[in-house]
Amino acid sequence: MPWADAKIHVITHSLHYGSAVFEGERFYKTGENETAIFRLADHTKRLFYSASVLKMDIPFSVEEINAVHIDLLAKNGLSSGYIRPLAFFGEKMGLNPKGAPVETLIAAWGWGKYLADKPLSVKISKYIRIHPKSLITDAKVSGYYANSIFASQEIEGEYDEALLLDFNGNVAEGPGENIFMVKNGEIFTPALGSILPGITRDSIMTIARDLGYRVTEKELSPDDLFTADELFFTGSAAEVSAIGTLDDRQISDGNEGKITKIIKTKYFDAVQGKAPEYEAWLTRIAI
Ligand code: PMP
Repeated sequence: MPWADAKIHVITHSLHYGSAVFEGERFYKTGENETAIFRLADHTKRLFYSASVLKMDIPFSVEEINAVHIDLLAKNGLSSGYIRPLAFFGEKMGLNPKGAPVETLIAAWGWGKYLADKPLSVKISKYIRIHPKSLITDAKVSGYYANSIFASQEIEGEYDEALLLDFNGNVAEGPGENIFMVKNGEIFTPALGSILPGITRDSIMTIARDLGYRVTEKELSPDDLFTADELFFTGSAAEVSAIGTLDDRQISDGNEGKITKIIKTKYFDAVQGKAPEYEAWLTRIAI
């Protein structure tokens, strides 16, 4: 459907109440006439999981959703960019969406860097990450992103990105990124519980372990981060982005760390089809 014709009704349940589920995926140029979606199967799996959390039956199969992704890039001849599948409750008012039609869309466009391509200045937000007893935090539900929007608006114009703590004061994640810490040659990331289990987070843990690093998921305090050797964010949009300062305190020398660079390089090799060991993560598409 042409971009300008992609319209929805104003009385769309999800528009009013945030009752939609979505994914964000990147695809990278892997050859002259070829692109590849990174970890499509895992994104689609999470999309269906998020839908199940909202008691939403996506009226398509996993295979159909994946096939439309491929078609979309092939038909538009897009070589690199971002894909946004979204499933939402359509025309119905009243909080419980039961009975509302379920609508599904997949959009793709060329999208460059999400975060600045330099070590980021990050500020710990006064807003905490959504409480796991308020919502099912490991799903990707549109309404949850009001939390990320508040945190992003708080730091706007002053810092590059926010960092949210959980209800216990431990480190959770960025508005749209997971966070990693390097200390004494080991890698740490917050355990699951209050965060979105990022697909990039999973990729980075796999890559780091394959490179021989020890990776531990555990509770991290802000003080752990202040004394880190390296910090970086991960996300499909954010990719791997080094953090230079946290609350105006410099992390090591403020530059991208050595281990961050090694892992980031391998990640970019993987997404661009240059790391045969991660070929299974790619859906290659002729364009
Ligand atoms: N946390 C949040 C809140 C996010 O929105 C995202 C982006 N989807 C991430 C983490 C990173 O997840 P992924 O690596 O799957 O993109």
